[in-house]
Amino acid sequence: MLIFLFEHLLLALVIASLIGVYLAKGRDELMRVLVVGLKNVPGMGGVISSVLKSEATNFIKQTPIGGGGGKLPGMKIPEKGISHEELRKKLLAMKEKEIDHEKGQIFAYTYTLRDDHYNLQKDVFDMFTEKFGNSENHEEIVREFHLAFLHENALNPMIYPCLRQMETEVISMTASMLHGDENAVGFMTSGGTESILMAVKTFRDRAKKLYPHIKNPEIIAPRTQHPVMAKAAHYFGLTIKHVPVGPDYKADVKAMEKAIGPNTILMACSAPQFCHGIVDPIEELSTLALKHGIPLHVDACFGGFMLPWVEKLGYQVPKWDFRCPGVSSISADIHKYGYCVKGASAIMYRDSELRKYQIFTYAEWPGGLYGSPSMAGTRPGANIAAAWASMLALGEEGYMSKAKELMDITASLKEGVQKIDGLTVIGEPHMTCFALGSNDPDVHILAVADVMETKGWKMERNQKPDSLHCSILPHHKASSDQVLADLAESVNTVRNDKGLQKKGTAGIYGMMATIPDKAIINDFITEFFSEIYTLK
Ligand SMILES: *Cc1c(COP(=O)(O)O)cnc(C)c1O
Repeated sequence: MLIFLFEHLLLALVIASLIGVYLAKGRDELMRVLVVGLKNVPGMGGVISSVLKSEATNFIKQTPIGGGGGKLPGMKIPEKGISHEELRKKLLAMKEKEIDHEKGQIFAYTYTLRDDHYNLQKDVFDMFTEKFGNSENHEEIVREFHLAFLHENALNPMIYPCLRQMETEVISMTASMLHGDENAVGFMTSGGTESILMAVKTFRDRAKKLYPHIKNPEIIAPRTQHPVMAKAAHYFGLTIKHVPVGPDYKADVKAMEKAIGPNTILMACSAPQFCHGIVDPIEELSTLALKHGIPLHVDACFGGFMLPWVEKLGYQVPKWDFRCPGVSSISADIHKYGYCVKGASAIMYRDSELRKYQIFTYAEWPGGLYGSPSMAGTRPGANIAAAWASMLALGEEGYMSKAKELMDITASLKEGVQKIDGLTVIGEPHMTCFALGSNDPDVHILAVADVMETKGWKMERNQKPDSLHCSILPHHKASSDQVLADLAESVNTVRNDKGLQKKGTAGIYGMMATIPDKAIINDFITEFFSEIYTLK
């Protein structure tokens, strides 16, 4: 109680003296006094941050969005998709509000040539609109938005307020889809990789601030975690500890707990992991995260825009999103099952205090005050507009009906596969994908993949155990009979020719598996990338 009173007394004194400064020396001096003078006074952190916040809010009012003051209302993916006609009207209205770089009023951000080259791109847009302008095809409306904002740059959120609005709304819709509360926030990025890089940067910087004694920060992740988590650890100087998964290919919660040490600053898991389409036991991992006070990142790049609808359709999906209280952040790709063009993902945080660690700032540049929320500096406006249009055009109804269609195709493919002697589905996948394995030692699944490729299919190889990843997409409806027939035939071919498992990619993977020194294999991968992009 005493402390409480004291705090208020202190606050009153501070406010009185601040008013004095303001009256005597004006606003700028007040800001200086506040930030410089009071920064280290105990208990004043909150006052400073709220003043800074209101300064920022005033600043933002210079470029209002959403037709009103600073703030936008929260938003859900609409229940029913908005008609393409309506969306086109919105597109025109927004293009009209946004600054037109062709008028020469801005001096950066948008680099366009007003010449044949520019006209060519514009013609493509006009042709497109003319040809498809009345179409009710999802991809076409997304493309129209994409083309309409092709030259706009989201680097500076003050220049193109409509882009800022669209990004904020995309994030708001994503937050509500993932059951975040009103505090959930995020940013758009260019893809899953950038989203995960940003999450790792965020939690590294958080740990630096909160636990400065940790010199060698570590991430703990199941073996099935997408390699981008290792890439992020590599880029940002962290160590990643991989933990073996259980026989069901899910993160082993006990083993994860055992791996936690004094340097652990982040745990990661997936919804679902890409290899086999299986969701990790995230509720349990969330409890673990809370128990040890460690943030938990859920990589839902693959499933973020699919699992919510699969669950709503009535399928068994374990809880994995912000409903699990230990989940700190989620990455979800809009350019996968969000049905947007490539280059759109969301990195979501439980609250804005976490998100702040993502923002890079630089105040010393002669070119002005600089801040940037993600890896990219210039951020393509086209991808933000396309993502926004994709979500609004489909609406919940559209996403649900696509999810149902894809779950039906998945079910019938899985059933067909199980009927082929020698083939099996790995574990119990949760959504629109599965990994194809073999349950017969005479059927080497990677050799089956090699034979399938001679028939024109492109197969995705998993290792440990060998299997084939299949993500299901709408066009698989038409090809599913053929793929099953060719699989059955390929299995027979492999069974009757033992030599095949020593050849092709089956042979390469087999040989690689016998090399204990993974450095050699990494050198091989480096050589591969170096050579394949070389002119001969
Ligand atoms: C696709 C994917 C990523 C990486 O995303 P990109 O968009 O390829 O950069 C990360 N994790 C999972 C689970 C994915 O499916």
